[in-house]
Amino acid sequence: PVDAAARIAGMFSGAGSRPVVHALERVTLAVGEGEVVGLVGESGSGKSTLGRIATGLLKPTSGALLWRGQDVAAMDGKARRAKQLAAQLIFQDPYASLNPRMRVADIVGEAPVAHGLVPSREKNEYAAAMLQRVGLDAAMLQRYPHQFSGGQRARIGIARALAVRPQFLVCDEAVAALDVSIQAQVLNLFMQLRAELGLSYLFISHDLGVVRHVADRVAVLYLGRIVEVAPTEELFARANHPYTVTLLASMPTLEVTAKRHIPISGEVPSSLGPPSGCHFHPRCPHAMPRCRQEAPELREVAPGHWAACHLNDGGGGIQR
Ligand code: SF4
Ligand code: MG
Repeated sequence: PVDAAARIAGMFSGAGSRPVVHALERVTLAVGEGEVVGLVGESGSGKSTLGRIATGLLKPTSGALLWRGQDVAAMDGKARRAKQLAAQLIFQDPYASLNPRMRVADIVGEAPVAHGLVPSREKNEYAAAMLQRVGLDAAMLQRYPHQFSGGQRARIGIARALAVRPQFLVCDEAVAALDVSIQAQVLNLFMQLRAELGLSYLFISHDLGVVRHVADRVAVLYLGRIVEVAPTEELFARANHPYTVTLLASMPTLEVTAKRHIPISGEVPSSLGPPSGCHFHPRCPHAMPRCRQEAPELREVAPGHWAACHLNDGGGGIQR
């Protein structure tokens, strides 16, 4: 229903010479213009892999990445470079991604000059404007990363991404390393930039509270498959998939009634050799024989609310 700014489909694998790992399977996710899609799941679920594919850092082994309806793999060099700039990744650890020997003026100003967006004589002025946009003082331009606090470094990372005029930001645990009070400030900055610039986001986080704060829709990933997608409040109020229910029940800030509480039992299986059928079956309190054999398809259980569970297949849903 939404204009797809980015659409990711197919079966993906890790790149490079390592053995092929099907980290993601049959994943389709669209992010609309100006939309914030949250992506949640435990570590090893494939969240970062999906984020890297969405920004073009990783190629899917099959399937396609569509940008404004166009297959990125079929684009010519110029169009692909433009798409590359338009989709930026905000890293988990801004400190690790900031060169300690570079001044902020260069960290922020280098890429826009290199890509011809800004003449080099205007680099400092441009970088200063970017710093102001993220709430930092332009006088900080000549400083080095170690001279900043964690929250300021997060803002520098955001300024660097904004400097190439993106339309789509993939934030991978972008606030996870920050204190809670600073987290809220940086999340508010993301939302302010969305309003000012019309940015779209794929907001990856293991923290459901963070995602609830920023996302319009939430996708839940479990061992490389999307098991549920819904508008944010719908997901939090009426989670359908047993895995999502367990995730919500484990949220410390959420009031959980005893009736709804389902403990997650068992270890998280590895995505290297995920369980047959529904990947969640070894941990699912509702598992039926069929769940071991057959992978459930995503079905629309309410408008815009999709879940992949056999209980929706005439089973009447979970009783809770
Ligand atoms: Fe549980 Fe079966 Fe639904 Fe998977 S398909 S979540 S195992 S009930
Ligand atoms: Mg990750």
